[in-house]
Amino acid sequence: MSLQSKKSFATIDYERCDPKTCDPDKGLCPAVPACEHKVIKQLDGPFEAPMVFQDMCMGCWDCIEACPLDAIGMKHLGA
Ligand code: SF4
Ligand code: SF4
Repeated sequence: MSLQSKKSFATIDYERCDPKTCDPDKGLCPAVPACEHKVIKQLDGPFEAPMVFQDMCMGCWDCIEACPLDAIGMKHLGA
């Protein structure tokens, strides 16, 4: 039995994500500064796809709204 409550978190579609399209000059993902909780990061640096620390994601949708390529979606777990 799981005691985990319902949880939503952002996931990145790495087929769609393309930082150089979002920011041709610096390769910075616009969804990163949009996340107040700082749980989406370009760990591998500019021009690389970001990743979401899903355990800490609040499911707030701010990053989804900031992504021009619809490369971020929301996953729902639990009952
Ligand atoms: S805004 Fe979306 S498509 Fe652009 S780099 Fe970030 S996650 Fe990828
Ligand atoms: S859904 Fe909200 S908390 Fe989660 S990564 Fe996106 S902006 Fe950050």
